[in-house]
Amino acid sequence: MPSEPKLTRLAFAVSESRGRRYPEPPHPYRNDFQRDRDRVIHARAFRRLEDKTQVFSTRYSDHFRNRLTHTIEVTQIARTVAQAMGLNGDFAEALALVHDVGHPPFGHTGEKCLDEAMRAYGERFDHNVHALRIVERFEQRYAGFPGLNLTFEVREGILKHSRDYKPGELPPVYDEYLLDQRPPLEAQIIDLCDEIAYNTADLDDGCEARLITPAEIAGEVPVFREHFARVEATWPDAAEKLKFNEALKSLLDSLAGDLIENSLAVIRASGVETIEDVRRYPQRLIAFSSEMGARNAQIKKMLTRTLYRNPVLNPERERGAAMVSELFRLYMEDPERLPPSHRDRAKTETLCHVVCDYIAGMTDSFVGKTLAEIAPAIQ
Ligand code: MG
Repeated sequence: MPSEPKLTRLAFAVSESRGRRYPEPPHPYRNDFQRDRDRVIHARAFRRLEDKTQVFSTRYSDHFRNRLTHTIEVTQIARTVAQAMGLNGDFAEALALVHDVGHPPFGHTGEKCLDEAMRAYGERFDHNVHALRIVERFEQRYAGFPGLNLTFEVREGILKHSRDYKPGELPPVYDEYLLDQRPPLEAQIIDLCDEIAYNTADLDDGCEARLITPAEIAGEVPVFREHFARVEATWPDAAEKLKFNEALKSLLDSLAGDLIENSLAVIRASGVETIEDVRRYPQRLIAFSSEMGARNAQIKKMLTRTLYRNPVLNPERERGAAMVSELFRLYMEDPERLPPSHRDRAKTETLCHVVCDYIAGMTDSFVGKTLAEIAPAIQ
């Protein structure tokens, strides 16, 4: 249990929400953040995460995380961290579930490709902005309003959970999201819970893919070495795979524990008393301790070299990049190739945005299927 008392006064109470864009009567037994969570789970963009690459595509193993299972892991960590700190678990859960819905196919490769394609037209692609567009416009499920009609705070958290924006960085239409202020603490925890989830999961998937070994991780990452040594002392005869799992589990727990304890200490030292103080505070208040931050950076450094930039994965990355770029080019060359609903949008909106939104929403396999249909010779 955290040594610091909980900070329930800084939990964002659902009764304080600025509400929905289109007012709705209250539900008899679910509060507004619980309803937001459920709307996200029932959204098509959420289901499509199952076929979107996180780091590894399913071409090599069906044990790897995809973006849906990653999202579930982030949600589990975020709910635990929020509740241990005395924050609003429902709010954190809704934010964690929705945090990756704006990711395009083929992971960061796909994201980089779309951004480059958009830059050629003087525009950018940002997955958080895209996620907001999905929940505001592209999900069509309700008769009374476009999008999911989520509460203001969940929409704000979608935009701002991973970073703050500089003044003027986004078009004025996003000014309503208080871009000069920090988001509530429940939104601030999401980015580091995301990091805990993917750092530990990528070590696991990296070993499963045989790109790294537990011994190499122990050699390069002192924090893992310590956890592994404790596991070896406790279960010297256990199977290697189980020792690795135990060490990883214990590492994840220590990262989450440090995040909880250190953030509580930072908040206490900051003197913030109200959510308004959190919003006006010059920095974010959720952080690892400097010691754990440095140890976490060592994990990241190893993963970058052995996984994210490993040349072995280049053909996989290049294949994804080539498909996204080619599809973008084909639609820009002839918008008649777009499905009718997107062709209609292109009559009133910039074509590059319509094309980018359409491709960003695709799953990995739908990109391949679509390319095969509209340009069979390329496949
Ligand atoms: Mg994520």
